[in-house]
Amino acid sequence: MKKMLYESPSIQKLNGGMMNKFGTRTEYEPVKQIDGVAVQTMMAQYGSPLFVLSERTIRRNYQNAVRAFKTRYPKVQFAWSYKTNYLNAVCKIFHQEGSWAEVVSGFEYRKAIGNGVPGNKIIFNGPEKTNEELELAVNNGSLIHIDHFDELYQLIILSDQLNKKPRVAIRVNMDTGIYPMWDRFGFNYENGQAFSALSKIVASGKMELIGLHCHIGTFMLSTDAYATAVKKLGDLAWKCKTQLNTSIQYIDLGGGFPSANTLRGSFLPGTDNVPSVDEFAEAITNGLLQLGFGADELPLLILESGRVLIDDAGYLLASVIANKRLSDGRRATILDAGVNLLFTSFWYDHKISPAQDFTQHSEDMVLYGPLCMNIDVIRQSINLPILNRGDKVVVHKVGAYNMTQWMQFIQMRPNVILIDEQGQTHLVRAAENLQYVEQPERMPEHLKPIDL
Ligand SMILES: *Cc1c(COP(=O)(O)O)cnc(C)c1O
Repeated sequence: MKKMLYESPSIQKLNGGMMNKFGTRTEYEPVKQIDGVAVQTMMAQYGSPLFVLSERTIRRNYQNAVRAFKTRYPKVQFAWSYKTNYLNAVCKIFHQEGSWAEVVSGFEYRKAIGNGVPGNKIIFNGPEKTNEELELAVNNGSLIHIDHFDELYQLIILSDQLNKKPRVAIRVNMDTGIYPMWDRFGFNYENGQAFSALSKIVASGKMELIGLHCHIGTFMLSTDAYATAVKKLGDLAWKCKTQLNTSIQYIDLGGGFPSANTLRGSFLPGTDNVPSVDEFAEAITNGLLQLGFGADELPLLILESGRVLIDDAGYLLASVIANKRLSDGRRATILDAGVNLLFTSFWYDHKISPAQDFTQHSEDMVLYGPLCMNIDVIRQSINLPILNRGDKVVVHKVGAYNMTQWMQFIQMRPNVILIDEQGQTHLVRAAENLQYVEQPERMPEHLKPIDL
């Protein structure tokens, strides 16, 4: 037998890691495979760190969300929120399932077009849309969600120039009982700004007003907030019908449903305290059916859910680089994946599992990433079995926002693979290399020679 490494004993004060109801211990079983594919095999083939996406989970989440709404309300359409994860392979899965595209920039808009989404099934949100991008969207018949008066006036001018009627909705912000209020996007409901914008659109005669939109927040834990949003948008829809003689064809409630991640510092794990999609669907569809519209004039319900549909379909596999003792005796474990890849570790306590058998001995530890940077902390305090150099871990529920907000800082981005429903793995984004990163750089002539 190989001689064990000697580790000197240390005295340590007990560190109150955030305890939850079930004590501090977080792991009882290793996670050795994902969708039947061995973690070790994937890492041997594609390297470490490695992002893994489960096609089966994405499709199951989507179908489950559609079922929750369609069984309660007759007219439902989902639009995939590109910024949540715009890897083309991911977008294509949602589009194959029937989802439209929801984009918040010209770059995302062009990605949706490139993925084959018809222009009239692209929802164009966001505070910045250039004249050129708006022109493209108008010509494609896309659904343009106006964010502010300056954009509204810009569209009036553009519609004259193009001699076309843009299909528009306005984004509305409102008090739904959740604070701080997201009032920086769209037009406010309470102070009458939203209705003023609607009146201007109709009075201009230059646009086709077809919808009302809101996106009241993200990781919303309250179903009541959505019921309130439905009431307020419903009120605007009534006013459009009765005062502006315009019938609203759709109500778009945005996204914001939480995934089952655990918010930093929560007492209960997310899997225990997050409302289900069914509960949100119940609150929203009850509200819609009570607005007083006849069965033949019910508005289409559009949803732009992001994180709830993909978070638990994404995993980050990483390797242990080293262990050390901090000056206060705490154990620190360094992984080869840090906040450069795991942006969401700033607000979630991500579940982390060892990927191999482990001893019964566990300890509170801090998990660091590989960056030479103090902020690179994956978990401030987690109780895990002792991990050795070279051991593998699985970070759970990382499918939303990490593969878009990751940064190329100190380290380059790794491979991303997709496990299809037959258990085959596919590379869907190749690891970056030096050439890729430096490709846009230019060197002024006088800086070329160096002589050290
Ligand atoms: C980000 C965003 C979404 C998706 O939000 P989730 O919280 O991930 O569901 C939907 N609509 C708009 C306008 C957004 O900006």
